[in-house]
Amino acid sequence: MALKVLILGGTTEASALARKVAGDARLAPLLSLAGRTTNPQPQPIPVRVGGFGGIDGLVKFLRGEAVDAVVDATHPYADQMSAHAVAACKETSVPLASLVRPEWRHETGDRWQIVANTEAAADALGHEPRRVFLSLGRQDLHVFAHAPQHHYLARLIERPDQATLPPDLRLLQARGPFDRADEERLLRRECIDVLVSKNAGGTATYAKIEAARALGLPVVMIARPHKPAGIVMADVEACVAWVHGLAPRGV
Ligand code: NAP
Repeated sequence: MALKVLILGGTTEASALARKVAGDARLAPLLSLAGRTTNPQPQPIPVRVGGFGGIDGLVKFLRGEAVDAVVDATHPYADQMSAHAVAACKETSVPLASLVRPEWRHETGDRWQIVANTEAAADALGHEPRRVFLSLGRQDLHVFAHAPQHHYLARLIERPDQATLPPDLRLLQARGPFDRADEERLLRRECIDVLVSKNAGGTATYAKIEAARALGLPVVMIARPHKPAGIVMADVEACVAWVHGLAPRGV
């Protein structure tokens, strides 16, 4: 019997894992997306979309769908989903592996100011008006309405749906990966004084950090939250090996 694997996704790694396990007769994978993107990229395995309804909802789902294993491959800042996964897997005794993307490390020439959260990032921009490049999710933009003196350029995959946004905000709709030379051109053209970024890790969005370094620009870097985890996996291959080593529950 194929092993039912729930992949908590929405990241490059989750999509890579989906590609790896697609067509594997030993597995019956299901990719779960939060539903933040209206037109998510097509996937080679079955997909479900939307929240589970907290820990209780996830417990119900794991039992109802007879899930054998969960791989948490959510974004490094998706700490709530990970906390729910840890709690629900513990309650149902479903094995949980977590694919944790390594952080970007500060390098010579980087001018990072590390702050605890998005609110602190908005405060760190200071009182004087600056030209700010926001490379954040659309759920974070409303926070900058509390610092309306700045000119903001926000790059997003999709238009934000919040009513409250900073008054002087321009949107740039684009999906990574981004190229370093293009990032440098963008920062120069827009006369950006400072970037605000999460420490997403990975290669797809690192070019802006390299571009800021090359141009000597400061980066307000929002630190990662504590993200609860199951058995930590280094990469997609390790996840595949881990699921192959599990027996279907009830066998
Ligand atoms: P979250 O705060 O951990 O999750 C909030 C709720 O969304 C969860 O409790 C769950 O709802 C639902 N959810 C999240 N991931 C899910 C999944 N894979 N499948 C089903 N339901 C899921 O995570 P988030 O709201 O997605 O994002 C948190 C932060 O990470 C944000 O700051 C966001 O900008 C950032 N993020 C960035 C990227 C990126 O690619 N740059 C991608 C994702 C997230 P229920 O409680 O109802 O189950």
